[in-house]
Amino acid sequence: MIDSHAHIDTTPFAADRAEVLQRAWDAGITSIIIPDIQPEHRDNLISITSSDPRLYRGIGVHPHHVANLPEQELNEIDKGALADRVVAIGEIGLDYHYDFAPAETQKEWFRAQLQLAKKHHLPAIIHNREADNDILDILHDEQDGTLQGVLHCFSSDTEVLRKALDLGMLVSFTGNITFKRSTLANVVRYVPTDRFMIETDAPYITPEPYRGKRNEPAYVARVAGKIAEIKGLSMDQIIDFSTTTAKKFFALCALIVVCTITAVAQPTPPRDEDYPFDRDWEIALDNYYADSVAWEKWIKPRRLGVGLSIGTLTVVELQQFLQRYNYRSTSVPTDPSRWTYYQRGEGPERSFSFESLSAIGGTVTYGLSTNVVLEASGFYSQNTKPAKDFGLDPITTIMAEFTALYSLNPYSKINFLPQAGLCYASIDDGTLTRTKFGVNTGLGIGINIPTKIGLFYPVFNIRFNFLLGTDENRVVTRYIDPIVGGIYQNSTNPNIKSEDLADVNSIYSLPRLTILYYLPF
Ligand SMILES: [Zn+2]
Ligand SMILES: [Zn+2]
Repeated sequence: MIDSHAHIDTTPFAADRAEVLQRAWDAGITSIIIPDIQPEHRDNLISITSSDPRLYRGIGVHPHHVANLPEQELNEIDKGALADRVVAIGEIGLDYHYDFAPAETQKEWFRAQLQLAKKHHLPAIIHNREADNDILDILHDEQDGTLQGVLHCFSSDTEVLRKALDLGMLVSFTGNITFKRSTLANVVRYVPTDRFMIETDAPYITPEPYRGKRNEPAYVARVAGKIAEIKGLSMDQIIDFSTTTAKKFFALCALIVVCTITAVAQPTPPRDEDYPFDRDWEIALDNYYADSVAWEKWIKPRRLGVGLSIGTLTVVELQQFLQRYNYRSTSVPTDPSRWTYYQRGEGPERSFSFESLSAIGGTVTYGLSTNVVLEASGFYSQNTKPAKDFGLDPITTIMAEFTALYSLNPYSKINFLPQAGLCYASIDDGTLTRTKFGVNTGLGIGINIPTKIGLFYPVFNIRFNFLLGTDENRVVTRYIDPIVGGIYQNSTNPNIKSEDLADVNSIYSLPRLTILYYLPF
């Protein structure tokens, strides 16, 4: 059994490294690969690996540490790659989660170090966090048939796995496959038995049931056990497969000649991503699609969806006074000195907000790609608050929205959907029906619920429709009796005067829950 990735040179092991290693050998581990992280710690790593022939190391700079790295470091790696006990270039890669170095710098160092791996015929240990596309793009560019690499701590989806395998890469699994919420079972199931290794990534990512404690190489058997469980094979078989793969990959052979022959005998991976590189994979994927209700199946062809929505509509209207009564006065409203008159566009502004009880609507969506979805929706709503508070007629709004939604993470259970689009509204306030165009923007959160009859996709959207333009024809008239304090829509009392307001702009906020259904084709 080989722990193909463990940082036992780091400070968490400073006090008891000897005991940790003894437990590893007692657990049946025969070799441990320690990746290099940063130049400052390399001397320590070298002295640790030279203390025991079962310890091997990588050389290279982790993406966390490539910011402000001197150009000279590349020469150091180039020279260092020839040193004793160096079996890989790594760990290298891209990490967009922590973002300790600018993405462009990370990409430059990743490429440069991959080229050194090819130059020295060493495999690359690749770290990938939230950088699937860029990792695959760069590997595709650099793969000339000689590049070998492992995507360590593989945590991406089956699509990325397939592309990585097609590019000739291996993957290695760590403690996160044992976590209760792990979504990696499918990935583990499909990876061919000769294309994966096991690792701990100690002191991080401790497998169950030790989760929460410091990780150490002796626990790597837990990872093997989980793979055996998922694949329906015995633990011995998994240890056998992963050890054979690791020995070949890192060329951990006694005889240099044998290593060279093995390295030369590696098959050249095809460059065409569509070529069925691995027969096992194809069969596994076919079976999977045929007999299971797996949600990747529904997500990819997520073309046509229909849904019903409920929400609440809040209208914020910005209006301008044309004539206004001085409320504080207790004199009769007919006193002309108590009134102020304004030209259109000059009066003070005032915003009103009206909340309706409910809005109901329907939605049709069409997926242009896995990420981009076009949506057309219609809503009907009646604002009853003006009726209640001011004695005005209820405002009936019919709204059409044409919106593009972008799914940031379409393959996750929970999707985040920023959105933008256009809207068109017809607003009837009892005296006048107006139509207005506008723009909208918002944010949605969707949940994928696959079932045997299709994908259900509830989405909670907060969306703002900004209806644009001054409404020249509309004047809101409010009849006011300042002594009684009432506001009336219509009045025959000659003592009651009217305030006039002109419409300027309005915002329609429409948070809604939409239950979408995607047909299973
Ligand atoms: Zn890593
Ligand atoms: Zn690592």
